[in-house]
Amino acid sequence: LDHASMAVKMATMAAMVTTGVAFMQAPTSLPRRLSTSASSSSFVSSPAPRSSLLSTSRLSKGSKEKTCVSGLGGLAMMADGKAKKIIVLGGDGFCGWPTSLHLSSQGHDVVVVDNLSRRNIDIEMGCDSLTPIQHPEIRLKAWEEVGGRAMRFVNLDVAKEYDLLVQLFKQEKPDAVVHFAEQRAAPYSMKTSKTKRYTVDNNVGGTNNLLAAVIESDLDIHVVHLGTMGVYGYGTSGGEIPEGYLKVTLPDGNPKEILHPAYPGSVYHATKCLDALLFQFYNKNDQIRVTDLHQGIVWGTNTPQTIKDERLINRFDYDGDYGTVLNRFLMQSAMGVPLTVYGTGGQTRAFIHIRDTCRCIEAAINNPPKKGERVEIFNQVAETARVRDLAKMIQDQTGCEVNYLNNPRNEDAENELVVSNNKFINFLGDMIRLESQEGLFDEVQTITSTYKHRCIKEKILPASFWNKRTAAACADNTLEVMKANVPEGEKKLGGVFM
Ligand code: NAD
Repeated sequence: LDHASMAVKMATMAAMVTTGVAFMQAPTSLPRRLSTSASSSSFVSSPAPRSSLLSTSRLSKGSKEKTCVSGLGGLAMMADGKAKKIIVLGGDGFCGWPTSLHLSSQGHDVVVVDNLSRRNIDIEMGCDSLTPIQHPEIRLKAWEEVGGRAMRFVNLDVAKEYDLLVQLFKQEKPDAVVHFAEQRAAPYSMKTSKTKRYTVDNNVGGTNNLLAAVIESDLDIHVVHLGTMGVYGYGTSGGEIPEGYLKVTLPDGNPKEILHPAYPGSVYHATKCLDALLFQFYNKNDQIRVTDLHQGIVWGTNTPQTIKDERLINRFDYDGDYGTVLNRFLMQSAMGVPLTVYGTGGQTRAFIHIRDTCRCIEAAINNPPKKGERVEIFNQVAETARVRDLAKMIQDQTGCEVNYLNNPRNEDAENELVVSNNKFINFLGDMIRLESQEGLFDEVQTITSTYKHRCIKEKILPASFWNKRTAAACADNTLEVMKANVPEGEKKLGGVFM
């Protein structure tokens, strides 16, 4: 931006933040086919009892012994009972939107910031959220109507519009900034050199801008960042993965706590490791208060706020790049196509329901580190499960078929994952499990069957490959090979994949 247009943009922002729901800039390249009509919440099913499904849960012992109190009640707003001013960067996304609504419903004053890049990536990929997500303006209007609270939206690129970010902080004086605003798909980050470079520039540049802007604003803003369990890597790391810091004995015999070694499995995961180093540096140098949340794979769609009105519906990614494993499997079963398990399906991953994502972030905001304390790190995880067991669980329920594809990723075929999540368990009690009795799993199945007419089947297959070797191997991901790879006893194929 030149100085003149920067001045105009800043003046517009100043007007916008004082007048409530308004927009810095109307996004012009968004799909306009989204309907604005409200409808009933018929896409939410009633709870159904669920049997225990996963035998591979590998959380630390303490967490499993707690009583389950999942749900959204029970959290104090703040230690002193006051509402906070919170800026949510990336607040239009899958995690950011329901978190913004949740924080607003708890009485906090929320400003949603997003450059709508995720919606533009949808256009680039010829795909869209399975659910008909509305334009931010319509979302905020709907929330004001049914939630009774105003939120504001700022269209701002955190990685590119540094001066505007500083200006926003100085104007709004937030108590906390939640940072979701990153390119978050590992497959997309591995797609081409362009997407690799974009992911690094956007994610690392954005995080550095955020930290520099906090210092320049001269405010004691608490930064809450969404990291990933993937920073630890999925190799066997010799025991339970601690929450960020590892106790070691140095060669001179002295004990020390160090940041857990980074072991990224993609360019995307590498950016999260680099973010973590930036937090360490700025915290040491400037005493910035930071909470880094190492989150597992998020499943589910709706929260008590997003189900209030269909205009508030959350996004649901099902494609090979952005669709996370459980949601993608449920989509496939709704479409009547075989589930696509990569490799042996022996990968163990960490999971958390979207409702608990919102609760965890609220808990992190309410329990900030004190000035001068080291970066706080939580593992934001409810349970772990092996991918093939997830597929089996869905197969048992729906009778769908399971296909084993050559793995587009460069990763261990099998891994164990033992994770400590004691800090959040202490704040929240237990979290929602895949086998919980609340019908949340059924809710995703209902979403997928309600909106399956919006699904483009061809987009479900993996479309990004980690290297030339995996790309060549995946050229064999034909129907015939997939059929041959279905283990004996599961050979129920007869349908056509695409
Ligand atoms: P998402 O892509 O749905 O949301 C991210 C949002 O940030 C999008 O709305 C996008 O437009 C916005 N954004 C990206 N770059 C921006 C920029 N430079 N300036 C302004 N806005 C920008 O992703 P999500 O699933 O909601 O993930 C949010 C965060 O949580 C990410 O950082 C991700 O790494 C982390 N996370 C997600 C999961 C998961 O399963 N979804 C798991 C672990 C961690």
